[in-house]
Amino acid sequence: MKVKVAILGCSGRMGRNLIQAAHEHESIELIGGSVRASSSFAGFDLGELAGIGAMGLTTVTELSQLNDAEVFIDFTSIETSLENINWCKENNKALVIGTTGFNDEQVSIIKEAGKSMPIVLAPNTSVGVNLMFKLLEITAKAIGDYTDIEIFEAHHRFKKDAPSGTAVKMGQVIADTLGRDLNECAVYGREGITEERSRETIGFATVRAGDIVGEHTAYFADLGERIEITHKASSRMTFALGAMRAAFWLSEADNGFYDMQDVLGLK
Ligand code: NAD
Repeated sequence: MKVKVAILGCSGRMGRNLIQAAHEHESIELIGGSVRASSSFAGFDLGELAGIGAMGLTTVTELSQLNDAEVFIDFTSIETSLENINWCKENNKALVIGTTGFNDEQVSIIKEAGKSMPIVLAPNTSVGVNLMFKLLEITAKAIGDYTDIEIFEAHHRFKKDAPSGTAVKMGQVIADTLGRDLNECAVYGREGITEERSRETIGFATVRAGDIVGEHTAYFADLGERIEITHKASSRMTFALGAMRAAFWLSEADNGFYDMQDVLGLK
């Protein structure tokens, strides 16, 4: 049996890749997608949006028009995703949130929603990135206490939030493993006389340029050697395919707040 899926934000960069990934996935049935009420893409054919030929499904502007879907995949904006949670909760739908940039308070709201609906919050749906989180945990456990930890990320010029949700999650995984509070030990960029580096800190550096899809590296640097753990995405399809995997997994999950580590069985 195929899982019926709807894509929220389907005219966006990710949305178009999600349409293609859903269309090609053997266990997913794409039933539709939403765009903003004011969007010039309202009423467009989803397949044409994705550049894969007409599919006979047109974009809608109200979630109620997608009521046949069991799982909603949301790559929109922070405000929209928070609104979509309420609708999905009231209508017994499962929700995969790929949107990034939520603050702690907003994450708490999403966690709370997980008590009464199945919800995956995945700031990065790539399988490789989630494997990288596991590698970071192993490395932090082995050498994190005595190395300098720095996280670099680079993305395309259109990205709105910084550092990326993935970079923050990398820092969170490392901080949790080392028993540190990321809010206290994170250093976001340096300028001027910054004094010597404190071992306890986790540094972040951000690049925004051209069409970079997404690159992340963590340094664990000692005197004389360093380990670098890097992931490079070369196409948005990697995120789209991971989101399909999350949607399929979530269709069989109980109410709860999950992440990609749950989806991939890496916990
Ligand atoms: P984008 O701006 O190209 O697309 C977002 C789309 O959502 C736009 O088309 C916008 O019109 C639409 N939208 C906004 N409000 C809406 C509403 N109320 N109803 C319907 N559509 C609405 O951005 P993008 O590059 O596709 O990224 C979207 C989000 O996904 C960002 O937060 C980004 O950081 C995140 N992202 C996550 C991953 C991941 O792996 N989880 C990967 C890439 C991007």
